[in-house]
Amino acid sequence: MLIDLHTHTSYGHGSSTVFEMFKAGRKIGLDVHGFSEHSPRPLGYDYTNEYREHLNKHYRQYLNEVEDIKQKHTESKILLALELDWLEDELGFMQECAEKYPFDYIIAGIHFLKKWGFDDQAAHWNSLLKQEKHKFYSAYYKTMIKMAETKLFHIVAHPDLIKIFSNDTFGEWIKNNKNLAEDALLACKENNMCMEISSAGLRKPCAEIYPCRTLMEIAKDIEIPVTFASDGHCVNTIGQNLPQLHAYAKEYGFTEQNYFENKIRRSAAL
Ligand SMILES: [Zn+2]
Ligand SMILES: [Zn+2]
Repeated sequence: MLIDLHTHTSYGHGSSTVFEMFKAGRKIGLDVHGFSEHSPRPLGYDYTNEYREHLNKHYRQYLNEVEDIKQKHTESKILLALELDWLEDELGFMQECAEKYPFDYIIAGIHFLKKWGFDDQAAHWNSLLKQEKHKFYSAYYKTMIKMAETKLFHIVAHPDLIKIFSNDTFGEWIKNNKNLAEDALLACKENNMCMEISSAGLRKPCAEIYPCRTLMEIAKDIEIPVTFASDGHCVNTIGQNLPQLHAYAKEYGFTEQNYFENKIRRSAAL
């Protein structure tokens, strides 16, 4: 089965409409297609190219379009999801977002440490000392534990996104900090979450799958269930490299993939 649980549209910062993404998904043979547009973020959490206003303005329309496809097209399974930004100091805001609409599942996107969108600009990382980078890697996995403990989420997205602009440094660090990463993934597992394996990293400066091999070893050891995703933002990236992701997971002995329908986890053979 081809399952892509994490995709975006032009209602966020993607470049293809809901219907274009649906058609592209059909074309590559997706059996399950999850629409997981970002949540709007509160003021003060900003990227350089901020899409908050555009997303807020069109969010209702986005929901209607996904719902419409869900009703009319039963040849594949269409799911409505939310990539909800994990913002440690905004629990009320996140709860409200998660509960506002009947989402099939909620994806945890950790893109911010406090108010810093750490995956926004390479320049932020280039000026950091090694020790400062290490501090941010630790903070990332510590906040992942807090995220999991809220029980708001079903999937932890791109679980080593923090490596995006400093992969060499991260690669060394993670080998010496397996315990912290393991605590974070265990917290996810204990709160009934899955770990996402994503091809988005292949298209980013880190140039490798999220997560790295060290995390894959931990994931296998603790037997956290996994999901697969492209995090595609346009018709050319939806479903991208899914077979490569499956082969990567099989190397570690994974035999199942998962998805959530109406918040219930379902499994399919890999
Ligand atoms: Zn994300
Ligand atoms: Zn995403």
